[in-house]
Amino acid sequence: MESKKYLLQEKDIPTAWYNIVADMKNKPLPPLDPKTKKPIKAEDLYPIFAKGLVDQELNETDAWIEIPEEVRDMYKIWRPTPLVRAYGLEKALDTPAHIYFKNESVSPVGSHKLNSAIPQAYFCKQEGVTNVTTETGAGQWGTSMALAAKHFGMELAVYMVKVSYHQKPYRRSMMQTFGAEVIASPSMSTRAGRDIITKYPNYQGSLGTAISEAVELARQTPNCKYVLGSTMNHVMLHQTVIGLEAEKQMEMAGEYPDVVIACFGGGSNFSGIAFPFLRHKLTEGKDIRIVAAEPASCPKLTRGQFQYDFGDEAGYTPLFPMYTLGHNFLPANIHAGGLRYHGAGSIVSQLKKDGLMDAVDVQQLETFNAATLFARSEGIIPAPESSHAIAAAIREAEQAKLEGKQRTILFNLSGHGLIDMAAYDRYLAGDLTNYEMTDEDVAKNLAQIEQIL
Ligand SMILES: *Cc1c(COP(=O)(O)O)cnc(C)c1O
Repeated sequence: MESKKYLLQEKDIPTAWYNIVADMKNKPLPPLDPKTKKPIKAEDLYPIFAKGLVDQELNETDAWIEIPEEVRDMYKIWRPTPLVRAYGLEKALDTPAHIYFKNESVSPVGSHKLNSAIPQAYFCKQEGVTNVTTETGAGQWGTSMALAAKHFGMELAVYMVKVSYHQKPYRRSMMQTFGAEVIASPSMSTRAGRDIITKYPNYQGSLGTAISEAVELARQTPNCKYVLGSTMNHVMLHQTVIGLEAEKQMEMAGEYPDVVIACFGGGSNFSGIAFPFLRHKLTEGKDIRIVAAEPASCPKLTRGQFQYDFGDEAGYTPLFPMYTLGHNFLPANIHAGGLRYHGAGSIVSQLKKDGLMDAVDVQQLETFNAATLFARSEGIIPAPESSHAIAAAIREAEQAKLEGKQRTILFNLSGHGLIDMAAYDRYLAGDLTNYEMTDEDVAKNLAQIEQIL
């Protein structure tokens, strides 16, 4: 094992987030009110989201948005995160490529999600909110939000997708340790939950259903706001601290990436590492490839359709423009729980539509092969989600070898896998299988959705 770290100092933590929308020629289409099909206004979102966050969500003009001092102070607990040259992995692959990764797994919760949980809690607190509610799939977001809510003195209720609630008991206990209340979703505590349990008594839950439950609770509880861990513009904004640091660190290394890669659930860690580099492409015409790596079992960017769809299963959210598999999509039970979501965020969807980025899909077994090679050559056990990025980076490195060309690859290690060892156990025992969605599955799902575009 051999690697080299590029470290920044506390003073190098960015002082502003990068708002890519300001630099996009084609802005994302506006979210629509599902009843009137008219663009929603900020006032429509204020009952559910903190005002400060809504204003960030709809900001199309300011490329830089200042990071509040209290948020930067919290970032100092683990930021700046290291950029690592993965010599061990390069050697194992015998590739001429230079591979770098940004290590977001060093946060107190083990993933990048805290980068947005802290500002979301901060802006809620600013407005006198006392209770926050959210959903979580694999538990990474819920854990981040539990820590952030506790820090700012608010109560948090988390709807956790039922299958994860049972498969990942330690993520549940992490949330409870930070003081959050955790409810398995679907639950009987909301109308959305009761409706789906009545229809499908054995339903093991999905992020879409958990979002419906959390939004319903926020609407019905005074002084309670809803927060979420991916897809929306303000979440992408907060995550840009990843790429802004990586930009400086690549300079320290004296290199510039030919390709930037991240795994893709709703797009937050992808946007975080990619947008600051995409900025060079948008504003200076720089030649750089940006690649999102998604599971073959949940391929919204590679095989979904660009159209308006709901963010949740029950249809409580506004309609967002997105690449989607349909909000009624029930994803296969792969171990990368954080990637099991039907749609992509609006900004990323527009960038994909405009050909400014690429997407690839990866089968479950390939991701675990990549994860194991990475663990053995770099000494870090990656999250099953992050392993999609590693697998895509390995493909690039192998291609470089075939072509006999140097290529500089940067990927985001969005989290570690130390609480996902049950998944590794299954892999090591030879019990894991691949799941792929057929084009017919995708078409069948999408046929049930109202066509608005
Ligand atoms: C949640 C999560 C993801 C997927 O979410 P994005 O918003 O697409 O980044 C990826 N990796 C880890 C470790 C996660 O916790």
